[in-house]
Amino acid sequence: GLAQAAIEQHARLVADFPSPGVEFKDLTPVLADAAAFAAVTGALAQACAGADLIAGIDARGFLVGGAVARELGTGLVAVRKAGKLPPPVIGVDYQLEYGTSRLEVPAEGIDFTGRRVAVVDDVLATGGTVVAATRLLESAGARVEAIAVIMELADLPGRATIAADLGPAVRVHN
Ligand code: IMP
Repeated sequence: GLAQAAIEQHARLVADFPSPGVEFKDLTPVLADAAAFAAVTGALAQACAGADLIAGIDARGFLVGGAVARELGTGLVAVRKAGKLPPPVIGVDYQLEYGTSRLEVPAEGIDFTGRRVAVVDDVLATGGTVVAATRLLESAGARVEAIAVIMELADLPGRATIAADLGPAVRVHN
């Protein structure tokens, strides 16, 4: 579709980053181009239709999450890396390829109960990050209905991991 053309035209593929053998998909130029940014955020918004809260994942998910929420007229929450939010927070620890990481959302000030959430990020790789974010939001009382990303790495089992860990109730779009 339109967003696919925008990605193919503007994404930058960087060899051996952040480590040897890895090809990093840099979507910075996609967002910097007005038409590509509109195409990408429009496609994400379609994927998130029905949600009443957009959850953008630290940090590039923030950039598109805000635009998607504005386009849909929903609220917006940042799912943040550990230590960024003031207390009290709810957090989840999850495994990375090397070591662990932690995502947090506020434990006060946002009533997540019954909220219909769409999780938004730039790239889906192993799926560990969006699965952790979904579990966190659901432990806070929300119902995650969709996961939407700009780009899915086809040679990694992101989608299968989401289906195995979260079941078929969470729609995945890219
Ligand atoms: P996962 O948890 O393995 O699915 O990794 C997804 C997270 O890592 C997302 O928050 C992405 O922003 C980031 N990420 C992984 N690979 C890439 C890439 O090639 N380009 C940009 N971000 C990436």
